Amino acid sequence: MSENNKIPYKIYLSEDEIPKQWYNVRADMKNKPAPLLNPGTLQPMSFDDLRPVFCDELIKQELDDTTPYIDIPKEVQDFYKMYRPSPLVRAYCLEKALGTPAKIYYKFEGNNTSGSHKLNSAIVQAYYAKNQGLKGVTTETGAGQWGTALSMASAYLGIDCKVYMVKVSYEQKPFRREVMRTYGASVTPSPSMDTEIGRKINAEHPGTTGSLGCAISEAVEVATKTEGYRYVLGSVLNQVLLHQTVIGLEAKAALDKYNITPDVIIGCAGGGSNLGGLISPFMGEKLRGEKDYRIVAVEPASCPSFTRGKFAYDFCDTGMVCPLAKMYTLGSNFIPSANHAGGLRYHGMSPILSQLYHDGYMEAISVEQTSVFEAAQQFARVEGILPAPESSHAIRAAIDEALKCKETGEEKTILFGLTGTGYFDMVAYQKFNDGEMTDYIPSDEELAKSFATLPKVDLLS
Ligand SMILES: *Cc1c(COP(=O)(O)O)cnc(C)c1O
Repeated sequence: MSENNKIPYKIYLSEDEIPKQWYNVRADMKNKPAPLLNPGTLQPMSFDDLRPVFCDELIKQELDDTTPYIDIPKEVQDFYKMYRPSPLVRAYCLEKALGTPAKIYYKFEGNNTSGSHKLNSAIVQAYYAKNQGLKGVTTETGAGQWGTALSMASAYLGIDCKVYMVKVSYEQKPFRREVMRTYGASVTPSPSMDTEIGRKINAEHPGTTGSLGCAISEAVEVATKTEGYRYVLGSVLNQVLLHQTVIGLEAKAALDKYNITPDVIIGCAGGGSNLGGLISPFMGEKLRGEKDYRIVAVEPASCPSFTRGKFAYDFCDTGMVCPLAKMYTLGSNFIPSANHAGGLRYHGMSPILSQLYHDGYMEAISVEQTSVFEAAQQFARVEGILPAPESSHAIRAAIDEALKCKETGEEKTILFGLTGTGYFDMVAYQKFNDGEMTDYIPSDEELAKSFATLPKVDLLS
């Protein structure tokens, strides 16, 4: 029996082994992520500046660059028990199909009704809102995974949830919308006529089908103008990355049981929350000089924030009401081409991951969507799980890495994050199955146009 056979298909942890603290990777970073700036004064946002928008406890987490471990509230731990620990799977079937000597593992976060890792942070944000005595939360959703996760968490805790859903998704994904309504959320297509910014955008761009940046502006406006409400965000922010470290902490605990050390860790990157959560404990070891890992972010070639973006202060939203974040960005008015079906369409990137990438602690690659769906199909057929298009970016990179090992004969250990399932993405799969999917890579001229709209913060400060 080879050593491989001793490792089970799924490495499960017990309920007691679900993390009781999150790990804050900022504590081990020498160069901390740059602070959020007030869009009016260009001064760092203080606790008080952020209070009209976010819940108090979440602001503390957002601003905390020094505490390495932060306790997970007991109520959140109990909620986690409904769907965690998530399995760490050894992809024996994929390895065999590829004929690779590489050992492939993936951490699967799609085992809950929202179908993705987003529930890990939704429950925390809803919990702190409720704990502060608030009536409800507002948010935006694009493809719908975040809105669904937040609706589930809000229903569980008995608070109200208002979701602004990018109009094109609202129309194209009626089933996502109905899941949210089933959990009691109100879902409004964005841009709407309910908000100042929505009315302005509708007037300037009649017939627009909306964007994430615009839906964010609407949700923030409603939160700040409605008593007892705050705004919550499903990615990008430091607090979200912190909550998602349950993914990496569990993955590491499972691997440690069998003394497995990954050589390469791969994750898809939209706003960076799943990738940041998966890599944090490993990155911590790397930052402290204890171990070394290759860490790879995978993004769509049609929305290449890391690989072609600028590291600069930028707006997080189209309406320019949110704080400025220093991050790899394509410019806040960048909207990926209409043929882009693979998710991960946000113009910016987590400030934590941006700093780590800038300092050379991780790599990034971009992949084209037809090759992403090829990888999704191959994976589904041998591993059984129908992956989300977003997750399939990581699958593409993991398969390519494993195929390289086949050429060189290296027995590398590859770990990747499988963030969710693709049941609500069948229109994209249909396009692929019908051979109608195309690739689009923005030209340098197009990117230059949206870079020109970056705020000139570095000059002013
Ligand atoms: C939202 C989402 C992503 C991308 O978000 P990150 O913040 O980059 O993790 C990836 N996969 C799935 C399934 C998602 O729903």
